[in-house]
Amino acid sequence: MPASPEPTSLTAEDITRFGPDPFALFSRNLVSVEERIVRACARAGRSRETVRLLPVTKTVPARVLRFAHAAGIRDFGENKIQEAVAKRAELSDLAIDWCIVGHLQTNKVKYLTRFAREFHALDSVRLAEALNARLDREDRSLDVYVQVNTSAEESKYGLQPGELLPYLDELRRFPRLKPRGLMTLAVFSTDLDKVRPCFERLRELRDIAVRHDSAITELSMGMSNDFEEAIVQGADVVRVGEAIFGKRSTPDGHYWPQAEKA
Ligand SMILES: *Cc1c(COP(=O)(O)O)cnc(C)c1O
Repeated sequence: MPASPEPTSLTAEDITRFGPDPFALFSRNLVSVEERIVRACARAGRSRETVRLLPVTKTVPARVLRFAHAAGIRDFGENKIQEAVAKRAELSDLAIDWCIVGHLQTNKVKYLTRFAREFHALDSVRLAEALNARLDREDRSLDVYVQVNTSAEESKYGLQPGELLPYLDELRRFPRLKPRGLMTLAVFSTDLDKVRPCFERLRELRDIAVRHDSAITELSMGMSNDFEEAIVQGADVVRVGEAIFGKRSTPDGHYWPQAEKA
């Protein structure tokens, strides 16, 4: 593992937010997230290896992410493509797998296809078409998760559940896209009885898709506040930000349209 960077690279603002030793903070938080994952797997009768932790690094400055890399994090989940592009440029000396987890505009696909390994918010035919065309030019493929709106909130991105099977059929036209699974953002609530039905819904849809002979098998669901429940409901990938990196100051409405509503 590379040595932790010098704390002298931190700004006063970084120290206010992450403390004087982000390496220690992230390492500690990773241990506690790992313990939570292990307990949830035990509760669900699943083996730990079946769940992948995707750390979500949005709002954490690139210079601070060097400490996360030193703490062992290799997959970086970013919501906004511009933010990911800027961080990648700053961290080009590190081996990082970039995963874009947020909504993407069709006119921005070229930024994503240049470097991202996976994309968790595929939600339209137009976007699939644009990604495929660009990937073709770059002669590469991309792992994709199809985002489904499981909470029936109008302001949320993602396909409606009823649109999923026809959509998966359409995806066969785009050989550069490798469909891996379904992704959802659950209802914004600390009440697990409200959150759980979203996860159950996604799992049911995945099972239907599998019977429909789609390539997708995985579930990308669960965040800092609810990933244990997501694991119990079958999550294969949990996308975790604040539990590792601490509270964000940017309002979540900047990243999710529905966060303003909740
Ligand atoms: C920010 C974000 C997460 C992680 O949220 P936390 O509450 O910080 O764990 C997961 N998925 C997406 C799409 C995000 O934008």
